Amino acid sequence: MNARRAMRDKKAMRENGRPSIGLLALQGAFHAHGEVLVRLGAAPREVRLPGDLNGAEGLVLPGGESTALLRLIEEYGFEETIPRFAAEGKPILATCMGLILLAREVRNPAQKSLGLLDVAVERNAYGRQVDSFEAEGEVLGRPFPMVFIRAPRILDVGKNVEVLGTWNGDPVLVRQRNILAATFHPELSGDDAVHGMFLDVLPRER
Ligand code: GLN
Repeated sequence: MNARRAMRDKKAMRENGRPSIGLLALQGAFHAHGEVLVRLGAAPREVRLPGDLNGAEGLVLPGGESTALLRLIEEYGFEETIPRFAAEGKPILATCMGLILLAREVRNPAQKSLGLLDVAVERNAYGRQVDSFEAEGEVLGRPFPMVFIRAPRILDVGKNVEVLGTWNGDPVLVRQRNILAATFHPELSGDDAVHGMFLDVLPRER
């Protein structure tokens, strides 16, 4: 592809200069992500079919219920689309259920996953009585508000996985190349820094 063509394609992905970000909208908590993306100057678009991702510069995989999501992912053919999108090097932000979907290994109970993120996770790992809680964790050395909702726990991380955030000694925000993943819900805490990191890697238009 020559440089001019590449430039035109890059422009085509912008909506009035805003990067178009796909938001997987099959199941789960995607609305609040959309609000954060708009606040940060991006143009979210709901993705319900694989074709909806064409031209998107990034992808958000929200929280929800991963067993239900997995069925829909397979039904609509996303189990090919998402790995292809990731292989193109485009940024992906996966939260909670989204992280479970991308993990190498899922326990409690074991279930299939896309294996794009080299972590093992245990679902619903923080106790049955307390399904959700807020806590102060740490992201890149600073205190960070976190909302956990029936959250998974990262049990181990591969050597290419960078731990960017922790709570109570557990990794809760990790990055592997273009994939940024949180066990908590950064769209609900009122601090947009995680979405900021996700969008920061996109080329800027001036
Ligand atoms: N408990 C859910 C699951 O295991 C994840 C919860 C969430 O995404 N908030 O799929």
